[in-house]
Amino acid sequence: MITTAPVLDRIEPSASYLATMRAQAMRAEGINVVTMSFGEPDFPTPPHVCDAAYAAMRRGETGYTAADGTPALKAAIIAKFKRDNNLVFTPQEVSVGSGAKQVLYAAMLATLAPGDEVILPTPCWVSYRDIAAMAEGVSVAVPCPQNNGFKLRPEDLEAAITPRTKWLLLCAPGNPAGAIYSRAELEALAEVVRRHEHVGVMTDDIYEHIIFDGLKFVTFAEAAPDLRDRTLTINGVSKAYAMTGWRIGYAGGPANVIRAIGKLQTQISGCPSSVSQAAAVAALNGPQDFVAERARAFQHRRDTILAALEKIPGLSCTRPDGTFYLYVGCAGLLGRTTPAGKVLQTDGDVALYLLEFGRVAVVQGAAYGLSPYFRISISSSLENLEEGCRRIAAACAALI
Ligand code: PLP
Repeated sequence: MITTAPVLDRIEPSASYLATMRAQAMRAEGINVVTMSFGEPDFPTPPHVCDAAYAAMRRGETGYTAADGTPALKAAIIAKFKRDNNLVFTPQEVSVGSGAKQVLYAAMLATLAPGDEVILPTPCWVSYRDIAAMAEGVSVAVPCPQNNGFKLRPEDLEAAITPRTKWLLLCAPGNPAGAIYSRAELEALAEVVRRHEHVGVMTDDIYEHIIFDGLKFVTFAEAAPDLRDRTLTINGVSKAYAMTGWRIGYAGGPANVIRAIGKLQTQISGCPSSVSQAAAVAALNGPQDFVAERARAFQHRRDTILAALEKIPGLSCTRPDGTFYLYVGCAGLLGRTTPAGKVLQTDGDVALYLLEFGRVAVVQGAAYGLSPYFRISISSSLENLEEGCRRIAAACAALI
């Protein structure tokens, strides 16, 4: 038998993926399950983006490209960084990969020595911890409770920094709680980072454009331009342009880190898909109005679903500033007994109960590092979401 590598013991498969797969398996058995665990927009990739991919194929752009991205895509990314974030990069300071996830992985692999620490304001996306572990780093979860708006406070950052800290990883609006930082809040975090010269800041801006209530997105590099040489800004086309399957992400940052990421890229995948890169050029350079329109649709769903959840005793939810997730507190359900006689002790128990009794798939907060919560994705039709809420309400009402 071929044994698997020790790294496999240090990582978990994605919890949101598992929840969605479990719901799909139940559906295949003929069970009617409402899925509220999706991690991708339910909108289609815009037609002009698909057309650009087709045109690229017709032009014969189907071979390998430069490992770190085509000149055309790098130019589109540079223009995007200037337009949206007021950041100026040269082509040597930009790298393209197969999704923000792969760029994050390459960035960690390129910079972490075994045992180096990555500070994760928590709750956070399920993958950061595992990606850091695959790169032999150690993640340091800093709790960012609901009463702090799920945001990192400067004093908590200061306390988490050690001589082994390599990165602070910021994601805002973040998965799963959707909070954003104001420029002033980022400046306060930058004050701390400035005092520790060995600490870099990696930002995952993938939800930049899914933002509500007229709030303004500010990325760390924009708020602290003097820390430019210590900041890596990661983004991608997956969420803003509904292009999750195209697998294009990118980073802008110091040339030495970008060079290292590009070198790894030559051995990880050779290059990102040529056709997807052509599509990403069209997305970034093309019309942008539909992006804001889709964010407004998510905002409408957020408001509708929040109103429905507020009526359910035992649940509480902070209004997210962005993303298509709601992070629902379920402390009020713990200790209650299901009709089958099981006492709910953890948010994992709650998620399982909602699936088995309520027939609605959500993701347990434990996966995101802060309990007791569960994550609802609002990335499906209002009818689906309203039905999901009715089922959650019925399941909660059935608890003894
Ligand atoms: N970053 C966060 C916070 C995410 O939630 C996700 C996907 O769920 C990603 C990155 C993945 O982005 P990509 O599709 O570009 O790999």
